[in-house]
Amino acid sequence: MGRLEGKVAFVTGGALGIGAACARRMAEAGARVAIADILDEPGQALARNLGEPARYLHADVASETEVARAIADTVAHFGHLDILVNNAGISGANKPTHELTEEEWDRVQAINVKGVFFCTKHAIPALRANGGGSIVNLSSIYGLVGAPDVPPYHASKGAVRLMTKTDALLYATDRIRVNSIHPGFIWTPMVEHHLASLGGDADANRRNADALHPLGHIGEADDIAWGVVYLASDEAKFVTGSELVIDGGYSCR
Ligand code: NAD
Repeated sequence: MGRLEGKVAFVTGGALGIGAACARRMAEAGARVAIADILDEPGQALARNLGEPARYLHADVASETEVARAIADTVAHFGHLDILVNNAGISGANKPTHELTEEEWDRVQAINVKGVFFCTKHAIPALRANGGGSIVNLSSIYGLVGAPDVPPYHASKGAVRLMTKTDALLYATDRIRVNSIHPGFIWTPMVEHHLASLGGDADANRRNADALHPLGHIGEADDIAWGVVYLASDEAKFVTGSELVIDGGYSCR
């Protein structure tokens, strides 16, 4: 029997990168998975590839209407909801604080912070009706320690870390567990674009990113997906409000 047999998961930003790896590993573990994203083509292709246990839904996490509709659709289609993975996120403008516009700041918070709020808000009634469940929030090492780049992203991931702990306390008696995951650099389209945006030699940028991690290299999406499978599963039944750091040692220093 799979580690997530019988469970239904809703994964935001599930078309690419870490979210896609989560959808794939959760489906392999026996879950039925709703993949929510704004990139319809790769999202639909992944759902087709995973077959009957997967379903793609268009939902911009920054829109409360779209989030509410997608979660309601998921419960109607699969019958209940056990797992919410708040994964959708953007790195946003990479400028020093004094050069940022209000619009650049707000865009990151709308997706990375308000998106987590909207999805959690609309998943809670379904998780309560289910008798409990697991919410996994993708924060970052950038929600734990500073670095001299992407200020709105740091603020957003710090917020997600504490939203996790507040919700863990608010919903513990409903048997809803809420945990955050803090990845180091993971090789996904987000990091590929981030390194490309630095300009200069792409191989040198990659080597520099690798060197930030004591294990000697940046991670891969499955390194995070396995953490999500664990936190979503009943193996983690006593785990709530925790921070699972998966960063190759980046934040040990
Ligand atoms: P990615 O850019 O490779 O993929 C993100 C996915 O989210 C894409 O499919 C994208 O279409 C989707 N998305 C973006 N905006 C959305 C919106 N408004 N509504 C719905 N979907 C939306 O990113 P990734 O590297 O896979 O990152 C996933 C999560 O992990 C993010 O929250 C990110 O901040 C976090 N994270 C990533 C890293 C890393 O190094 N890759 C490190 C730490 C934390």
